[in-house]
Amino acid sequence: MSVSRREFLTVGGAGLVAASALREASGATPQARPWYQRTLRWGQTNLTEIDPRRIDIDFWRAHWKRTRVQGVVLNAGGIVAFYPTKVPFHHRARELGDRDLFGELVRAAREDGLAVFARMDSNRAHEDFHRAHPDWFAQDAQGKPYVVTGMYVACVNGPYYREHIPAILREIVGGYRPDGVTDNNWNGPQRHQPCFCDNCEQSFRKRTGAALPRTANWDDALYREWILWNYARRLEIWDEFNRVTREAGGPDCLWVGMMSGSLNYQARVFRDDAQVFRRSEMIMLDHQRRFDTEGFQHNAETGLRLHSVGGWNKVIPESMAMYHLGEHNFRLAMKPTAEARLWVVEGFAGGVQPWWHHLGAVQEDRRMFETAESLWRWHEQNERHLVERLPVANVGLLWSQRNTDFFGRDDAGVLVDEPWNGFSQALVRARIPYVPVHVDDIDRLARELGLKLLILPNLAALSDDQVAALRRFVASGGSLLATGTSSLCDEAGRPRADLALADLLGASVPGQHAWRDPARRTAQAREWLQTYLRLPRQEAARHEALRGFAGTDILAYGGTLEPLVVARPAEVALGFVPPVPLSPPEDVWMRQPETRIPGLLCAERPGGGRVAYLPADIDRQYARDQIPDHAALLAALVRWCVRDVLPLEVEAPGLIDCRLYATSTARVLHLVNLNNANAWRTPAHDLVPVGPVRVRVRMPEGKSAVVARALVGEARLAQSTRGAWHQVEIATITDHEVVVFE
Ligand SMILES: [Zn+2]
Repeated sequence: MSVSRREFLTVGGAGLVAASALREASGATPQARPWYQRTLRWGQTNLTEIDPRRIDIDFWRAHWKRTRVQGVVLNAGGIVAFYPTKVPFHHRARELGDRDLFGELVRAAREDGLAVFARMDSNRAHEDFHRAHPDWFAQDAQGKPYVVTGMYVACVNGPYYREHIPAILREIVGGYRPDGVTDNNWNGPQRHQPCFCDNCEQSFRKRTGAALPRTANWDDALYREWILWNYARRLEIWDEFNRVTREAGGPDCLWVGMMSGSLNYQARVFRDDAQVFRRSEMIMLDHQRRFDTEGFQHNAETGLRLHSVGGWNKVIPESMAMYHLGEHNFRLAMKPTAEARLWVVEGFAGGVQPWWHHLGAVQEDRRMFETAESLWRWHEQNERHLVERLPVANVGLLWSQRNTDFFGRDDAGVLVDEPWNGFSQALVRARIPYVPVHVDDIDRLARELGLKLLILPNLAALSDDQVAALRRFVASGGSLLATGTSSLCDEAGRPRADLALADLLGASVPGQHAWRDPARRTAQAREWLQTYLRLPRQEAARHEALRGFAGTDILAYGGTLEPLVVARPAEVALGFVPPVPLSPPEDVWMRQPETRIPGLLCAERPGGGRVAYLPADIDRQYARDQIPDHAALLAALVRWCVRDVLPLEVEAPGLIDCRLYATSTARVLHLVNLNNANAWRTPAHDLVPVGPVRVRVRMPEGKSAVVARALVGEARLAQSTRGAWHQVEIATITDHEVVVFE
């Protein structure tokens, strides 16, 4: 690594990136890299049962070319076979006849120089299969099969996964030589579909010596063991299927199961993001659309989250639906162009690679073909700036799938997702670059990225090792910002004697506190009340992080708080004001205008770090009510914790998602314009340009002769340098802009 490269990777003047973080592709030209590293643009026409009689392969070849894809996902088998399979009960597509459609498509793709992923769907089977082998399918405690869309859900511990699917994989890989195999739905029964077949009974007894738990009781250690046993089996499937495809197709013939971008969903289907991505060379991300609770920005965040846990250089193609997905789905009609574009460019901003997706070989809403073409072409022209890069951020937002499992339990939406979404949305709104950090990666990412602050958004379930990593971070001068019940539980979700970080946060939980009882805790988290947080009346007495709130003595809150035991050096910066009646109007006054119940505690640490603890779940409240003060409070605390040292400043109205990266030669800044009448209600009807947008990026030391250019707009950028800051002005941004500082 050259000196200049090291300098460019210096983050915000804060930390120095480990050279190993951006693994060089050993100087290899893109062509010399394995297919799973060099194939950046994908396309998929998901075939239906009648497509063998109506598909026009030449049309799709032309579309592959128009959209500059380098790889295609082709339906092979699983629920439905598109080739003349010899595996018993492998259901051939209704209109397949003797045709080998999969084989024809593989040949066409090869002639066009494309990589091929054979697509599987291993989740369900038809009635004839179930009649012949009822014991291969999942069954409930009464022995009844789970039937979804008229098909039978296969058990992951029986011969369906151990013999039937491997036989299909060998047939496909041996017969057609695809580069790899990807599977749409490979996890078997979900958490709400526990299987009680003999194979499951035996497997579970072998691991635990006990019978399968009959009820879903999170307080029962055996049920928690059942959860972990389920995860372990999915990882085994991942490894077993990879052994099969590599034996049949060589060491690069990967088997890659599709993964959702929703951690909540991943938990319910036992797919462990961190464990899977650490063992896989790539991820096929099945994250097709925006949800109103998370916004477009969730796509960039998901890309960052997966890269941060799996590797910065890995490729993460994402299935981007070109058809309409919203409150209701129309899988044959186009997704409005603005909606589709914003989702795709947010993917680019997260280091996600594009993969268009149509359902059916014949499309009557032909407008959807145009959506991909311009975006995929832009991606081709600019691909070198869109891969192999490290985020430039000194703020980490902590996550853990075990927290979703064992603290979130059946209420992860309220207990885990809302605080996460609220905090990440406040950061996006404040244009504060951040990186999702898995709790097991604290040491590594703090070193690689030079993190100065770790945020715990109601992250309650932590192991002793994870707590120790947080302590090391603070001891070495790092700052912490925690909300709600952070560090209340052990990794199994059991309440600890006290907050594991009580001494750092400056607060202890007394014996009778509602937080000690999961049912009361969850009820409190769901409840909304007219409550407030109080600032000291005298401005001189106010904490410096709260300077932005001159002109008010109170802030809207919405949650409820009980007393905590506060310990020095923490000081109470905001106090809780208990519920105020909403009506009749004559009743709307504070019965208790002031309490000693802490809403916010702040402390300076001996190591130089700062700690802000919000027992008040402002992040969750922000996700729900979108109160600007809540976003401003979270952002102000972040700024205080990092002593105002941030790598980026952006001046423009509204909501602009900013994601900043370092490559080996440049800084790359994505700006996604989310100013839209439908920013929080799918779908976007049109794009609303914003401008001018003034951007200042803090450059590494010694980089004075920087030239910035825009990859989307045609206009030359006005730019200037002042000290370490390079400033550019972008006249207008329609959907996105990418600025390269070289
Ligand atoms: Zn079973």
